[in-house]
Amino acid sequence: MARGTLTKTHPLYEHVETIARPHAVPCNQCGSQNLRPYCPENGLGLVQCIDCKLVFVGRRPESRELYALYGETYFQNNESGTVGYSHYLKDEMNIRKTFARRLRKLEKFVQPGKLLDVGCAAGFFLDEAHKLGWQVQGVDVSDYIVQYARSRFGYDVRQGSLLAQDFPKGTYDLVTLWDVIEHVPDPKAYIEHVTALLRSGGIVALATPDIDSIPARLTGLRWVGYKLSEEHVYYFSQRTLSQMLEDAGFEIMRVRHVGKYVTLRLFLDRLSIYSPLLAKLLSQAEHAFNLSERSLLVNPFDIISITARKR
Ligand SMILES: [Zn+2]
Repeated sequence: MARGTLTKTHPLYEHVETIARPHAVPCNQCGSQNLRPYCPENGLGLVQCIDCKLVFVGRRPESRELYALYGETYFQNNESGTVGYSHYLKDEMNIRKTFARRLRKLEKFVQPGKLLDVGCAAGFFLDEAHKLGWQVQGVDVSDYIVQYARSRFGYDVRQGSLLAQDFPKGTYDLVTLWDVIEHVPDPKAYIEHVTALLRSGGIVALATPDIDSIPARLTGLRWVGYKLSEEHVYYFSQRTLSQMLEDAGFEIMRVRHVGKYVTLRLFLDRLSIYSPLLAKLLSQAEHAFNLSERSLLVNPFDIISITARKR
């Protein structure tokens, strides 16, 4: 089965099958219609802009159809290699450890002040930042997860597209978009909006799959960065994301491949996509020593993180 295909029994299957793909869209970065197919064997309908190299889903569903994906099933399902998460809320400890590590790395560029987390999900990043003295706000398109974040933490978390919110312009010290920019229908508009929200000298930090990374190149259509074409709409590289940020008025401060804390079980699940035999051998050790919930920091060097300062 191709990486971007759901089985017919998956709860999201009918939703995805009925999504219309109305129009071919021009390049979001440069407006060019000079496009060529990109990795057609993965079945995701990707194209690459010949002029600026941005890769994206060539025929895009409407925004409301894209956003309808982010219900409860997205955060808990049994095909997380293709869509969403196996159990986002249960993975809280690892998600928090990942975010705490990213916050420590950001201290070099910005001190605690006013923070907006775009795509804040359950609010774990907001809560880690709050503990360090940040004044936090969040926004997420998922009604389900926003309800959770509000009732669990009580922070100011808005529901909907960032572009539809009225957060005060020119006031934020830090805006973060962890695993978000690849999901949105208009990333250029998002980044320009972030520029407007930040104070002069404010920081934006993003993380997204890197389509030019060695794992993406070596593993071809099996790369774990490839998700359902309704979920990941854009695929960035260091080059294309830096270009978009610079055009929106940012100076690039740091570019890194970043890791995540995951359970050994998830790690082996992902490894089995690339190397079933190795994963099977390690699985036997996992069962023998009861290690499946043990967490480890995994950095496959295929998630790019960029920190940039508003000029
Ligand atoms: Zn382009």
